Amino acid sequence: MDGAVNNQRYEELAASLREVTERVASACRQAGRSPDEVRLIAVTKTFPASDAALLADLGVRELGENRVQEAAGKVDEVARLRPEADVRWHMLGQLQRNKARSVARWAAEVQSVDSLRLAGALTKAVRAALDAGERDRPLDVLVQASLDDDPSRGGCPVDDLSELADAIARQSDLLHLRGVMAVAPLGVDPEPAFERLASISEMLRKDHPEATEISAGMSGDLDKAIAYGSTCVRVGTALLGGRGLASP
Ligand SMILES: *Cc1c(COP(=O)(O)O)cnc(C)c1O
Repeated sequence: MDGAVNNQRYEELAASLREVTERVASACRQAGRSPDEVRLIAVTKTFPASDAALLADLGVRELGENRVQEAAGKVDEVARLRPEADVRWHMLGQLQRNKARSVARWAAEVQSVDSLRLAGALTKAVRAALDAGERDRPLDVLVQASLDDDPSRGGCPVDDLSELADAIARQSDLLHLRGVMAVAPLGVDPEPAFERLASISEMLRKDHPEATEISAGMSGDLDKAIAYGSTCVRVGTALLGGRGLASP
C-alpha cells in the first residue's frame, strides 16, 4: 500500500482507538469498575487486512469477524503482513456447522455458539485441528443467548442455554466455556436486554463458575453494556468507520 495513505489510516485508527478506549474507561469509572475488567474486540469485518494489521501495530490484541469466508483469508493475510503480531481472532457471527473446520484453524474464540449441533461440530473440528497441528490449544467459547426470540439473528433460546453450556463443559479438553454473549435487539432501548444477560450469566455461573465473560455492547451501546457488567465489548464502526448500506 502507498506509504502516505497507510500513514494517514494509521493516524485515523490511532485517534478512534483513543476515543473508544476513553469511552470504555469512562463507562467503567461511572460503573465503579476497573477498565481491566473489560476487553476490547476490534470488529474488522468488511475492512481490509491492512487495517487489522495497523490495529495490531497500535496494540490491539483481539480482533473479531462475523463471516467465515471473509475471515479465513484475512487471518492468513494479517499473519503474512505481521508475522510477529500476537493477535487472537474471534468468530462473532452466525456459524454453519460445515464451516466449523475452517474456524477451528484460525479462531481463538467463538462467541456465537447457539446450538448443541454447532457445539458438536466444533468439538469434532477442534479435535481434527489439534491432530493436524493447526492449533495448539482448546477453543474458547461463549454461548450466545437470543434475547429477542428472533431466530434470524442467531442465539440460543434462553430456556435451552443451561443444557448447551453443560454439553460444552463436558468437552473441556477441546472447548473451554468462558461465558455468554448477546446482541441487543435492534431499534429499542438495549438496557433491559443487558440486564437480562447479566442475570443469565449469574444463573449460568452457579453450575459453571469459570464462565465469567459477558460479551455485550457495540459501537452504539457499549457504555450501557458496561454499566450492566459487560466484560467484553465488540466495536466495529466506532473504530474503523461506517460499513455502508450494503454491508451488515
Ligand atoms: C458487526 C458486529 C459488531 C460491531 O458492531 P458496530 O456497531 O459496528 O460496533 C459487534 N458484534 C457483532 C456480532 C457484529 O456482527
